[in-house]
Amino acid sequence: MPARYPRVSHPRVSWHRVSWILLGVVASTAWFAVSLRLMRAWGLHEAAPAIGLLTATAVAVTLWRWARSDREQAALAELRCPRCRSALRERHQHARPGGVAAGIQRWSCERCDYDHVEPLTCPGCAA
Ligand SMILES: [Zn+2]
Ligand SMILES: [Zn+2]
Repeated sequence: MPARYPRVSHPRVSWHRVSWILLGVVASTAWFAVSLRLMRAWGLHEAAPAIGLLTATAVAVTLWRWARSDREQAALAELRCPRCRSALRERHQHARPGGVAAGIQRWSCERCDYDHVEPLTCPGCAA
C-alpha cells in the first residue's frame, strides 16, 4: 500500500511574485522608518508608530494593487483567466463612425464569469 500524503495544493510561486513581495516588504519597511523619523522630528513622538504603520500599510496596499494589475495584464496577454487559469474568450468590437468612440476589447471566462473590458483600437477599426 503506497504511503498517503495529505493533499496540499501549493499556490504557484513564481519569481515574479516573490520579487513583488520582496519589493513590498522593503518599500513598507523603508516608509515606516522614514515616517517614524519625520514624526519624531516634528515632535509627534506618541503618534509616530501609528502614523508609520499607516504609511507602511498604504504603501503595501498600493504595491499589492500594482502587482495584481500586473498579473492580470500578463494573464490577459496569454489568454488565460487571471482567476481560474482556464482559457479566455477574446472578442473585439470595432469602433464605428458615429457609434462607439473607440474599439472595445473584451475578455471573458466561461468557467468563473470573469469579465474584463478595455478600449482598444485596432487597424481595422473605423477612424
Ligand atoms: Zn477594431
Ligand atoms: Zn476564469
